[in-house]
Amino acid sequence: MTRRIYLDHNASTPVHPEVLAEMLPYFSEHFGNAASITHPHGRKASLAVEDARIVLARFFKVLPPEIYFTAGATESNNIALNLLKPGEHLITTENEHKSVTVPAERLARHGVDVTFLRPDSEGFIHPQALREALRPNTRLVSVEAANGEIGTIQPYRELGAICVERGVLFHSDMTQAAGKIPLDLGNVHLASFSAHKVYGPKGIGALFVRRGVRIEPLVTGGGQERGVRAGTVNVPGVIGFAAALQLRLAEMDEEALRLAQLRDRLRDGIVESIENVSVNGPRELRLPGNLNVSFDRIEADSLILAMKRFSLSSGSACSSGEKGPSRVLKAIGVSDDAAIGSIRFGLGAANTVEHIDMLIDDLKRVVRKLREIAVA
Ligand code: PMP
Repeated sequence: MTRRIYLDHNASTPVHPEVLAEMLPYFSEHFGNAASITHPHGRKASLAVEDARIVLARFFKVLPPEIYFTAGATESNNIALNLLKPGEHLITTENEHKSVTVPAERLARHGVDVTFLRPDSEGFIHPQALREALRPNTRLVSVEAANGEIGTIQPYRELGAICVERGVLFHSDMTQAAGKIPLDLGNVHLASFSAHKVYGPKGIGALFVRRGVRIEPLVTGGGQERGVRAGTVNVPGVIGFAAALQLRLAEMDEEALRLAQLRDRLRDGIVESIENVSVNGPRELRLPGNLNVSFDRIEADSLILAMKRFSLSSGSACSSGEKGPSRVLKAIGVSDDAAIGSIRFGLGAANTVEHIDMLIDDLKRVVRKLREIAVA
């Protein structure tokens, strides 16, 4: 059997072998509970978790106590939004991941005022749109750093600066950006991260909470993570997250350049050789490994099925069970027909120029065939 080429790195990434090697002893040899510091087993785990916290803090240039480990970015986003109380105002966007929009909709049903900002046609949220949406009771603004479907990198620094100026908290879901592009948390009060997007394990994430910002836990119980997230800490996960970011530190800049070149080769190859396609999201200011293309008169599901040499997806994995076109594509004004024919290409570490050229060839052939069938 020939192996499929994986091109869905915005959904998840494989655990890097070095990351796995660092994690393994914490499943068996050093299995202690990080809260059981009365004995060496627990102390070993606890020290390793605190070392990992320092790695994350250095990576994001924040303080170690400002990093809280969670079960993933979904949980981090939920905790961040949970600080809102009835009568307060939340501003977020139509681009966000469902782990922001669904809690925002729930808050709206419980007396929180919620504004969803509409992005422009490339997915950007303009600082002026945020200024206009602020109200006296605005407590939190939540805008992602980068979008996992169309790649748009938001002007989150400028958006954060407006919040700082107006005394409003700024949360950014940095899940798709962390480890892929340089980040600056200077104007950010809260930020969400996940390990499995950067060659770390699934089920581990982090929430950055700037010193002095008070939050409300969602999961309560044993008081782990200083009360922010109860539950026995996932020690191997934490070790894996830190190891993954440590690797990114060395590789990120070079890899970003390489992936951007592959992405541009793919975009140019598609646009030059297949008629009636449109690229969704911006040309510049987009995640290096992300490309999103609408193929006119094609259903993405049929295309994905026919592209037997590749693992592809039409959008966010978390929405892939949903019926109808992607919310993000709708928000940027892509027609329903075009959205139904959209593919998200997520390039990553193992992808090569040869993969891209094979992909373009296969796309040409399959799109032509599907369009012929549609006419017949
Ligand atoms: N936010 C964004 C932007 C994401 O892409 C994802 C993962 N698809 C999440 C949050 C959720 O992360 P996790 O899988 O760690 O819960």
